[in-house]
Amino acid sequence: MRPAKALIDLDALRHNYRLARRLNGGKALAVVKADAYGHGAVACARALANEADGFAVACIEEALELRAAGIRNPILLLEGFFGTDELPLIVEHDLWTAVASPQQVEAVLAYRGEAPLHVWLLLDSGMHRLGLMPDAFRAAHAKLSAQPNISPLTLMTHFARADELDCQRTLEQRETFLRATQGLAGETSLCNSAASLAWPQVRNDWARPGLMLYGADPFFPQANTNAAQLKPVMTVSSRVFAVREIPIGEPVGYGARFVAERPTRVGVVAMGYADGYPQFAPNGTPVMIDGLPGQLIGRVSMDMLTVDLTDHPLAGIGSSVQLWGTAPLAVDLARRCHSSAYELLCGLKRVPRTYLDA
Ligand SMILES: *Cc1c(COP(=O)(O)O)cnc(C)c1O
Repeated sequence: MRPAKALIDLDALRHNYRLARRLNGGKALAVVKADAYGHGAVACARALANEADGFAVACIEEALELRAAGIRNPILLLEGFFGTDELPLIVEHDLWTAVASPQQVEAVLAYRGEAPLHVWLLLDSGMHRLGLMPDAFRAAHAKLSAQPNISPLTLMTHFARADELDCQRTLEQRETFLRATQGLAGETSLCNSAASLAWPQVRNDWARPGLMLYGADPFFPQANTNAAQLKPVMTVSSRVFAVREIPIGEPVGYGARFVAERPTRVGVVAMGYADGYPQFAPNGTPVMIDGLPGQLIGRVSMDMLTVDLTDHPLAGIGSSVQLWGTAPLAVDLARRCHSSAYELLCGLKRVPRTYLDA
């Protein structure tokens, strides 16, 4: 069997969720959209089901997958619904929906069912992606609150720059939120991971942590004492399955991107960009070889990559090569490849996942 594998540490996931909840001081929806950022939504939701105040996903398809797996916790659709035909399903499966555009407001006002809809009304406080501008938000709040078949609203906004520690935009967005929601009834929800970790001024009723649940530090390489407590959840590894010795001046792999400057022992590893490893990771990108720091050399292929074994005399066929996880960190690898931990984790493909659950 191909030795590529992803180990998912569910205790680390629970540890990170508890940190998110404790930091916020209130409730926290565990964001498990995009198959829990590549970690497996059903397995992650099951691991958190006993303690999570709820889950958040991108769309009804993701919510129904969790319901089909027996998850009974509240589930919020972060982008609301894409068509009005989803409303009966939202009610039937007891989902909560964001209402994030004038079209969604109209659709919800036209809802005639008796069972109450749970609405999280999204204010655009400055990100300018989804959400209602302050005047429209207040008008929608008044109309929706008057509907007997709509439960008390939750007031929500989303930060665009909370991962930038020296940027005041998060506080400006908070001011806009406070002004726009002044006097309006409803619980509030503001914080993504970065805000939960670094912006205590904006914490409130419901946090919505995503990335931090999976142990990735949004501020890396800048230090943040809360983020330092996170534990990586996904560790991706594979094995060396072929070894070459090449003389000085000879290239390795596509495009001859690596050329040996010394007699070089090359290990071929079963891991490639079709697994989600970044194709353009540079020469020298850190890997762990049998637990020791080592380096990638040559361009990453679809199904294979090459590492330098010259300074690892004991390593050979069968040696374990860790690509990201406890070391190197996903954020570190991603940055070196002009990507992000979000994209790296969500991009895991083909690699079978095994779950560690103490
Ligand atoms: C994805 C998402 C989150 C979680 O963001 P992280 O940066 O991963 O913590 C929170 N709220 C909304 C609306 C989102 O779309």
